[in-house]
Amino acid sequence: MPRSQQSVNPASREAIRALAAAFAPALIKWQKKHGRNDLPWQQTRDPYAVWLSEIMLQQTKVSAVIPYFRRFLERFPTIAALAAAPEDDVLALWSGLGYYSRARNLHRAAQIIVTEHGGGFPQAMDAVMALPGIGRSTAAAILVFAFGKRGAILDGNVKRVLARVRGITGYPGENAVAAQLWTQAELLLPKTGLRAYTQGLMDLGATVCARRNPRCTECPVQTMCIAQRTGRTAELPTPKPRKTLPQRRTMMLVLQRAGEVLLEKRPSSGIWGGLWCFPVADSDADAVTVCAQRYGVQVELREALPVIAHGFTHYHLDILPQPAQVSSWPRRAAEPGLIWLSVEEAKAAAIPTPVRGILEQLIGRSRRR
Ligand code: SF4
Repeated sequence: MPRSQQSVNPASREAIRALAAAFAPALIKWQKKHGRNDLPWQQTRDPYAVWLSEIMLQQTKVSAVIPYFRRFLERFPTIAALAAAPEDDVLALWSGLGYYSRARNLHRAAQIIVTEHGGGFPQAMDAVMALPGIGRSTAAAILVFAFGKRGAILDGNVKRVLARVRGITGYPGENAVAAQLWTQAELLLPKTGLRAYTQGLMDLGATVCARRNPRCTECPVQTMCIAQRTGRTAELPTPKPRKTLPQRRTMMLVLQRAGEVLLEKRPSSGIWGGLWCFPVADSDADAVTVCAQRYGVQVELREALPVIAHGFTHYHLDILPQPAQVSSWPRRAAEPGLIWLSVEEAKAAAIPTPVRGILEQLIGRSRRR
């Protein structure tokens, strides 16, 4: 028995058994009629495609994922193809989807699957969870959808559904609250119909049991939901305690020469790890001096581009793009970590969203001239 179930007393365990007997059948019936059944990754049991979709869907909406999912599978149709690809190519295909550590982990995991599992996706929970970027909920979802195994999921949407159905207070990001939710997820898990049940939980959270204004009258588990019964749907789940995020500023040096821009590869750890970025400097630094000291070049500053505001989990960043014209570049173009690209080539490289925004601004400015 999972350790998290041991804290449930026998009376409430009995009540949950009765609830489970009604909950899963209602959800499965609803999923078959009203759930999402035609998404591209639902048309296959290939564990690679299922895994890819689960990773892409983390923090990203279905509609945004679909074109990326198709392009990715077209370019890297197998785990072996992904494992053999250069990291730059993988990041370039991920460009615009955000949370790039997902792409780096996916790539590393593919290489581990090839070297340690002979190229076949593992089927044991602990082996799946040992792969980079795969947590307990994602591992269970892959095993359910690809192999029909039994396992509870608890992604953000499911946490919301279960906190409401079971009336669990407290921010689900806290370990103690998450442990309660895992217990409920396991106790409610049916013995059969796992695929439709798991998809039903995901669909209910994504379409009916929305964060704001859940459509309870259309909900298949309305009569079993404590939050609905007690008028607490707006309170549950308990929101994250508010914390004001710090505000930071940085300058991006948009060096231009003969229709090309200079990009610099970021270190593999930290923000935008491994991506190509404009060189950064302190927001109040003198760009001419920075270019002279860092690259040994004279530059002529151009009018600054509009500030780009970018949000990270832990802080907000204002990016000040400073274009500068370079007449000659004494260093060799092949210097590691630096690359000159046309604006169009740069747009196709593995770049983070703010860099893409700056490139668009450059294109817009040159059109207006
Ligand atoms: Fe969510 Fe409302 Fe259904 Fe409860 S009844 S699970 S709050 S949609």
